[in-house]
Amino acid sequence: LIDIGDFTDDALGAGKGLAVLTSGGDAQGMNAAVRGVVRTALHLGAEVHAVYEGYQGLVDGGDLIKRLDWDDVARILHRGGTMIGTFRSKDFREREGRLKAAAHLVDRGIDRLVVIGGDGSLSGLDLFRQEWAGLLAELVERDRITVEQADAHPALMIAGLVGSIDNDLVGTDMTIGADSALHRIVEAIDALASTAASHQRSFVVEVMGRHCGYLTLMSAIAGGCDYALIPENPPADGWQDRMCAELRRGRAAGRRDSIVAVAEGAQDREGRPITADMVRAIIEEQLHEDTRVTILGHVQRGGRPSAYDRWASTWLGYAAAHEVLSATADTEGKVIGLRGDRVVAVPLVQAVERTREVPQRIEEGDYAGAMALRGGSFTEMVRVFRDLSEPPTVEPRHDATARRIGILHAGGLAPGMNTAARAAVRLGIERGHTMLGIRGGFPGLRDGHVRELSWGDVEGWTATGGADLGIRRTVPPMEQLYAIGRSLERAEIDALMVIGGWNAYQATWTLWSERERYPAFDIPLLCVPASIDNNLPGSDLAIGADTALNVIVESIDRIKQSAAATRRCFVVETMGRHCGFLALMGGIAGGAERVYLHEDGLSLQELAEDAATMARAFGDGRELWLAVRNECVSENYSTHFLAQLFAQESGGRFDVREAVLGHLQQGGDPSPFDRILATRLAAHGIDLLDRELAAGARGAHYVGLVEGTVTQSPIASMREESDLVHRRPRHQWWLALRPVLAAMSSPDAQARVE
Ligand code: ATP
Repeated sequence: LIDIGDFTDDALGAGKGLAVLTSGGDAQGMNAAVRGVVRTALHLGAEVHAVYEGYQGLVDGGDLIKRLDWDDVARILHRGGTMIGTFRSKDFREREGRLKAAAHLVDRGIDRLVVIGGDGSLSGLDLFRQEWAGLLAELVERDRITVEQADAHPALMIAGLVGSIDNDLVGTDMTIGADSALHRIVEAIDALASTAASHQRSFVVEVMGRHCGYLTLMSAIAGGCDYALIPENPPADGWQDRMCAELRRGRAAGRRDSIVAVAEGAQDREGRPITADMVRAIIEEQLHEDTRVTILGHVQRGGRPSAYDRWASTWLGYAAAHEVLSATADTEGKVIGLRGDRVVAVPLVQAVERTREVPQRIEEGDYAGAMALRGGSFTEMVRVFRDLSEPPTVEPRHDATARRIGILHAGGLAPGMNTAARAAVRLGIERGHTMLGIRGGFPGLRDGHVRELSWGDVEGWTATGGADLGIRRTVPPMEQLYAIGRSLERAEIDALMVIGGWNAYQATWTLWSERERYPAFDIPLLCVPASIDNNLPGSDLAIGADTALNVIVESIDRIKQSAAATRRCFVVETMGRHCGFLALMGGIAGGAERVYLHEDGLSLQELAEDAATMARAFGDGRELWLAVRNECVSENYSTHFLAQLFAQESGGRFDVREAVLGHLQQGGDPSPFDRILATRLAAHGIDLLDRELAAGARGAHYVGLVEGTVTQSPIASMREESDLVHRRPRHQWWLALRPVLAAMSSPDAQARVE
């Protein structure tokens, strides 16, 4: 694994020819990646071509290989599919086809190639690289190219990006398209759940994934399904009876519907396929219940890319362009992917080999090996899903060993809070604890609004925004601590989980630091990060931020569309307080020209330069300019002020509109990612509290996702890890994406920056 991301040479592309193509099955986000590669390479001074229709375009040449300019990849960021087309090319599999392909590249002075596709496309790419010198020698022999041409291009330098909804590449976190596919699947499961619940019906949903259960497992968690069947972890003999018993118990515990998610490639331990129709027949026979099958099919590949598939693919495209332009003749081919909050390069051959090992292991019946290749968090989520979906066989214990865990929400509202509470309640019950819901945040705790929650009480909470337990921003003042302590004692709360944002952390810190005076606070305390602002210490991402980003990006799409046939600048204001996460990532995913962050500060001179650049750009024929402003970037240079300034300086060339997105950003049902994150963090939280209670320990912690792994830190470290004045972590990984935005913005804007 090679960490890449520190790019400094701005003239890296000078005199170099690069081409990009998409191949294999299409995936949402491919357009963002193409745009990322093209604009970065142009920005670095390279000559850039797009190859249309995948490898077939390389073989056929002609108009299928087109030189691109900055504007040629405008207005594609929000589109599904791939605007340069994809193909499964038989010709390219033959040496004769690859000979033609090499000739077409050499004709145009191209010896650097970025391919966005699945493992097949990437192994084809590596083969092409290995054969390159031989292909060119043969072309010289055939008088197709000159010796000088061959000498000028002694090697093919390559980079691969994985475009595949399956998320099946071993070694990186997410493939391009997987998150959008999850959006499609989870939307469908939510829709099915409401109709299924009305009729008390069962549904079997078939999800794509021949060798990879990622989409099925994650959508089953995010959609709150009852049972999931995936290729890597086939069920043991007798699964039919166990599945039906579980569905039956679920109904008895309060479910009104049953949903079983089945991966396309699901099978039993003998390797016999398990189809959606078989599952339907089993449920009908054993439960005598009306059961329907829904095969989601190609819907999963379609539609608009999610916010993640836009910003992450843009970042990957940016990194791939740098990688391929800095490669030399002996650089090994790399796949560029994301690992946690980092862009990494994995040797291409190794990544493809390990990816292909998974289906082999499944075929050999080595399921443990297949699971291990998928990685630790996949295995962890299989266990979490089982614990969450299995209704308890026993009533909660109310004996002396039973512990009582309270859950409350504090801070600002974040979508996914319900999901986290549901997971905590069910997993707590599963471990034999009594789970207590505290209504209305810390004021509710003070007033004793505590009641026991059953497994069935949290049914349906996976999918809903808001916070059913209620929420308050209030950090309890000192004079209320006594009452809160009394309430904790009266409700006999042995441990407390606080799910929320900055104020939740602040309040928990207060309880922890006042332990000496109030022994009631001397219990295990735990914060779970939930804030759309994504400003909490100890976690790269907080629950709710991804949903808010999706709202921002959808809003920006609409705002941009509304400007059809006008010349308009939009100034869009996002939330985030003093943390610029939503503004920067929303700006990248929404295709903004400029983003104003509190972290960078804002001067009048800068604004004046932007106004002048804009006037020039619109004068040159530009139709749209999008600026995103973080709500707290400046006290005086408000969104309204910016809009008025730009309008004043427009010279009548364009008009300006402002859009303050406001509380829309806190609403809506949680995105699949937020549901998965909420479930994962709550599961880790319950594990931690469980361990603390069993050991008689009384730690106070916050949990979080750090570089793809769930970690915990003592609440005491909040002070060191945070900028307390601006209420944000001292280290913010996403600031590394500022140059990505700059590379995507128009040459006019770049001229300004330079
Ligand atoms: P998906 O995961 O969506 O199936 P993929 O990239 O794995 O995508 P493939 O059909 O395997 O899809 O490959 C796409 C194209 O890549 C092929 O049609 C072919 O042109 C090229 N390709 C694949 N494997 C090779 C190979 N071994 N040699 C040369 N070209 C190949």
